[in-house]
Amino acid sequence: MKNYFKKYPNKEGFFEEYGGAFIPPVLEAEMQKITDAYHTISKSHNFIQELRSIRKHYQGRPTPVYYCARLSEKYGGRIYLKREDLNHTGAHKLNHCMGEALLAKHLGKKKLIAETGAGQHGVALATAAAYFGLECEIHMGEVDMKKEHPNVVRMKILGATVVPVSHGLKTLKEAVDSAFGAYLEDPVNSIYCIGSVVGPHPFPMMVRDFQRVVGIEAKEQFFEMTGELPDNVVACVGGGSNAMGIFSAFLDDEECNLYGVEPAGRSFELGEHAATMKFGTPGIIHGFKCYTLQDENGEPAPVYSVASGLDYPGVGPEHSMLKDLNKVNYECANDKETIDAFYELSRLEGIIPALESSHAVAFALKLAKENPQKSILINLSGRGDKDIDFVVDTFGLPK
Ligand SMILES: *Cc1c(COP(=O)(O)O)cnc(C)c1O
Repeated sequence: MKNYFKKYPNKEGFFEEYGGAFIPPVLEAEMQKITDAYHTISKSHNFIQELRSIRKHYQGRPTPVYYCARLSEKYGGRIYLKREDLNHTGAHKLNHCMGEALLAKHLGKKKLIAETGAGQHGVALATAAAYFGLECEIHMGEVDMKKEHPNVVRMKILGATVVPVSHGLKTLKEAVDSAFGAYLEDPVNSIYCIGSVVGPHPFPMMVRDFQRVVGIEAKEQFFEMTGELPDNVVACVGGGSNAMGIFSAFLDDEECNLYGVEPAGRSFELGEHAATMKFGTPGIIHGFKCYTLQDENGEPAPVYSVASGLDYPGVGPEHSMLKDLNKVNYECANDKETIDAFYELSRLEGIIPALESSHAVAFALKLAKENPQKSILINLSGRGDKDIDFVVDTFGLPK
């Protein structure tokens, strides 16, 4: 697609009909300021040099591409991993958090504000805040704080303030409202840092741009190792940031098939999965338009996945467009396939994947079986240390 990154999003933040900024007027002005600053600052020599240096010396980039010999032998195909689990803090999220925090610093902001569900975004942002010497305030539902206690402790060790949210269901949705409220109290000195390619413009664009490093590295590394491009590229999709990161390098390559994998959870009944692309319809959620799962009143529907990083009733606007354009295939993996894949990668390769990433692995294993002659590049978005107790307590060890 010619001039893809110039064309999408357009000036108003639309990816065809998706995206935009459906927000109260007070926020419109702030978002415009961030957009303008992003367009100038992110192209400046200083900004680019600083981000490059951070990626190399602090985050440990480039992360490797790794060939899974034993997994490929068992399942067929040639299976490769882009190792975002080896990025500092153990997931791809730091790629955009360091970018957002660097932008905040250039804008003269003092405080980073965000919500977190499972705590992964909170930990990555708290890390970035520590690095830049900025204040950090993370809003988190009380139910999630109990469930994800180690991440709460991590954020506190890193110097962040964790604000418990005690209204409603005390989970992610209420945390979003609470964080937004805090941001609105002082939008001049603070900045709201979104954790995926979602939210009002310019966030889906900025987060994608900060994640593009994953695809740029992976394409070059894969080519160096094999002399060709991958036949298939697979990534899990919650909001869609790790997937946009890797897909963005292959959008022009007709010969590469791109697969986004959503959680099919426990069943295809509403409330039991978070397969937004498969079952959703276009609608507006959290200030932007995308495919959404809604209840009969048009409210965001309850969603479920074994991986807390994937349970979102919306999806990035760019993914919504790529689905309509048939550029990316959106598939599902259910809880059981995901847990099996979690153990397969652990036992055949010595790599414990995050439950989110295990969805991508699960689908890739099916694809490998069906296409034994083809190569598959999986974006392994994070490591699974955070999930080990939950998996073993809930599902037990395999025989
Ligand atoms: C948060 C998270 C995801 C889901 O977020 P996307 O924006 O869809 O990438 C996937 N993998 C890991 C390891 C995560 O922490």
